[in-house]
Amino acid sequence: MNNYITAILLIIYLPKVAYLWVRENWKALTIAIGSTLALLVIFYNFGNREMTSNRYTDNDVAVNFQDLTAAFATGGKRTMQVEMIAIHHTAGNAKIKVYDLAKYQFQKFGNVAYHFLVMPDGTIYQLRPLEERVPHAYGCNDNAIAVCLAGNFNDYPVPEVQRKTALRLCRWLLKKYKLEASNVLAHGELTIYSPNNVTDCCGKMFDIKKFRQEL
Ligand SMILES: [Zn+2]
Repeated sequence: MNNYITAILLIIYLPKVAYLWVRENWKALTIAIGSTLALLVIFYNFGNREMTSNRYTDNDVAVNFQDLTAAFATGGKRTMQVEMIAIHHTAGNAKIKVYDLAKYQFQKFGNVAYHFLVMPDGTIYQLRPLEERVPHAYGCNDNAIAVCLAGNFNDYPVPEVQRKTALRLCRWLLKKYKLEASNVLAHGELTIYSPNNVTDCCGKMFDIKKFRQEL
């Protein structure tokens, strides 16, 4: 019974007590709320400073991508015109974090090796500007755009969302550079440029011919 009465008293008096407390402490309260909001804004901007959402919409093909180009070192300007689009797979865990992949590639090749990374959920990361060279394939670092799909397509086919996203990205690139579907090549097909490109990249289960047909 005592608890019951206490509860009723609390319900009646709590708003009153809260009101009195706020009236006495409104300055401290304002400072606390204000500084919390300021900190939230600072952390939000800090966390997103390297990643901005962008959208290429020219040539009737819209491509949304996360721009990470400011996060990685430059590999220098390309010395040749773009003649093709090279398709790669990471040959690893599809859920790899983009920064982990970039760190690994930086240690191995001295720079991020792809212009674009397409994730299984359809997210596209742009890692380097299009006018820069990236170390992705022998004899093709200056004349190709490197598009990589996260995953190992020696083990399983490309998830449809990821495949469709890569198709849309390639369509946009083909229009931008006035190229044909035949200019989209798997890494392993780049032996026409160098025999050192003998590789099963972008995966035995990646049907590159069907991919070209759908462009
Ligand atoms: Zn490759």
